[in-house]
Amino acid sequence: MKKAVKFALLALMLLSLAVAAVGCGGKEAPKEPAKETGKQDVAKTKLVVGADATFAPFEFTDPATGKYTGFDVELIQAICEEAGYELDFRSMGFDGLIAALQTNQIDAVISGMTITEDRKKIVNFSEPYYKSGLVVAVQEKNNQIKNFDELQGKKIAVQSGTTGALHAEKATSKDKITYFTSSDQAMLELKNGAVDAVVMDYPVTAYFIQQGNKDVKMVGEILSAEEYGIAVPKEKTETLEKINTALKTLKENGKYGEIYKKWFGEEPK
Ligand code: GLN
Repeated sequence: MKKAVKFALLALMLLSLAVAAVGCGGKEAPKEPAKETGKQDVAKTKLVVGADATFAPFEFTDPATGKYTGFDVELIQAICEEAGYELDFRSMGFDGLIAALQTNQIDAVISGMTITEDRKKIVNFSEPYYKSGLVVAVQEKNNQIKNFDELQGKKIAVQSGTTGALHAEKATSKDKITYFTSSDQAMLELKNGAVDAVVMDYPVTAYFIQQGNKDVKMVGEILSAEEYGIAVPKEKTETLEKINTALKTLKENGKYGEIYKKWFGEEPK
């Protein structure tokens, strides 16, 4: 009798353990594949990308179509395609882009943004995707300013929050500098003769002159060696990884070179 009770109890215990195991397995099982395959195949994850779309040839509005276009725009489109993101591209003032990243209004920035030590303290950058530098622009008829060193005491227009603005602050006193939200406005100020010079990214200045603004010229050497990168919030390490992997693939498979050649007429440097 005693033995029978013991046996019955043991059997019950084993049975309940087995039920628990099956129960657990049953509950856990569907979680795993959902995590693995993700939603990407069905609905793509959205990547909200901010840029100041007044920075031709990197990001600007195509006058013919009214759509955003440029080297950065096509590069981020290709990156999103490669990484499986749905791109949501938004234009905003350059000096508000980093704050928008920090407050998670946007997931990434591609905006001809130079990788600098100061910015790296608050955001992360992708691998560099473009080699750039700054240049001084003056009116074509100006024969006084021949290089960066001759800007002392001169009136300079810059775009707020840019490396060009930082360089202008080194060249002349702050009260001689006029700050604009967009690069076009700074250039217009120079054309109007309200300032003596503009300090801005070389490729953007060169493109502006090439687009028929022959009353403007570049003087002196290309200043600092700068590199553009895609910025993401510090905590979004997975996003950064995906962007870098996609960028690497595009560099290897020739797509990056194709976009570069389309916009700059030469092979990537
Ligand atoms: N490359 C410059 C910077 O990062 C300017 C960028 C821009 O005006 N879009 O400050």
